[in-house]
Amino acid sequence: MKDTTALQPSVYSRSEHSISRSQINENALKVLSRLEKAGFDAYLVGGCVRDLLLGREPKDFDVATNASPEEVKQVFRNCRLIGKRFRLAHVYYGREIIEVATFRGSSNKTSEHQKTHEDGRLLRDNIYGTLEEDVWRRDFTVNALYYTIRDFSVIDYVNGMKDHQEGVLRLIGNPEVRYREDPVRMLRAIRFAVKLGFSLDINCEQPIYKLGKLLTGIPNARLYDETLKLFLSGYALQAFEMLRHYGLFAILFPQTDGCLASENHDFPRVFLIKALENSDKRIALGKSITPYFLFSAFLWEAVQIKVKKKLEAGENQYFALQHAAHEVLKLQVKTTAIPKRVTQSMREVWTLQLRFEQRTHSKVYRLFNHPRFRAAYDFLVLRAETGGANTELAQWWTTFQDVDSKQQEKMLSAVHKNGGKYRRPSKTSVN
Ligand code: ATP
Ligand code: MG
Repeated sequence: MKDTTALQPSVYSRSEHSISRSQINENALKVLSRLEKAGFDAYLVGGCVRDLLLGREPKDFDVATNASPEEVKQVFRNCRLIGKRFRLAHVYYGREIIEVATFRGSSNKTSEHQKTHEDGRLLRDNIYGTLEEDVWRRDFTVNALYYTIRDFSVIDYVNGMKDHQEGVLRLIGNPEVRYREDPVRMLRAIRFAVKLGFSLDINCEQPIYKLGKLLTGIPNARLYDETLKLFLSGYALQAFEMLRHYGLFAILFPQTDGCLASENHDFPRVFLIKALENSDKRIALGKSITPYFLFSAFLWEAVQIKVKKKLEAGENQYFALQHAAHEVLKLQVKTTAIPKRVTQSMREVWTLQLRFEQRTHSKVYRLFNHPRFRAAYDFLVLRAETGGANTELAQWWTTFQDVDSKQQEKMLSAVHKNGGKYRRPSKTSVN
């Protein structure tokens, strides 16, 4: 390992780190070698190097190069240029995309290629530079390690390797300036802390309490994307706890936070925690998860509070729920731009909750065949498990799905005979 003096990187040779070529995605290797052959420098950088060093499979492979986006496009036929704030090249291999970014230049070269908001936020950052300059534009030291296939070494300008070994997330440069430049880095800090099990360096942690509110200036589409990454990566419960701790959850989900703050019993919190736990468990088991389910859970209590008021004002149950859902979603999309198809599914999950109670023959089968039945049923079970719905009702629907059609008929006539109230059928009546 070479020694570090100012601006001299530490270079970790192949024998000094644990990344082996065989762990690296074939297409990413192709991109690196094609760029090198065309006479450019190209490195793997960011999350993939960080994750490879931890022995984890990276989510994606990012490449940094001294080729401009246009030059990258000339090297690859299967390439598209995207982005305004950061211009990037996407190289396509079937459905897989390798993202290729040109080295960012230093921010004191002000020009029309870089634009900063009066609050310090970087609105455009398209000044190109060298690897030495690119390093300082990155967020955390552990995200600023560069891997080259020239000699399979890792290049480290910021003591990222040491932080990596110690499990510390440290922002490069002055944390407050870096958060002001891009407040989303606060959410990234939390996401990486929970995902990697790393701790936040104290200087990186302290400003968050004060600067969290800057997130309100971030476009709602970007916040939605970050929210998905925070809650759909298998560490949702920890992310929730940590976001709450730093006061950031209130910014992302103000209505939910309001319910948690004013709760006069434990239900909303227990319900949410169970929803987050279930979703983490599903991911651990390799099952699919959908954003609409979790968002339905986040906003359910806020909807319920509005429903209650509307019922008191004389609205019927159906309209009270529709109007409450509309109002809650309208407010929520101001912070996180939940797409229409997702809000539509959320409404369905909520509306179907009313229909579980109605167990006439035709209504039961119509509900049973509804495309959102399974999610709505899971939601009912979640409510029942946490004291928010009738457990017998949830159990009835569980049994109903398990038995054959003859037995289903018996269950329905039992409900019918009982004046719509469910009585557990005796063993003989089901068998
Ligand atoms: P993962 O892909 O596992 O979520 P990642 O670290 O690769 O994590 P990306 O969003 O893919 O995150 O970004 C790739 C790299 O680009 C980061 O590792 C970091 O070096 C840099 N980067 C991304 N977003 C920012 C940002 N907001 N500020 C500074 N650097 C960033
Ligand atoms: Mg990445």
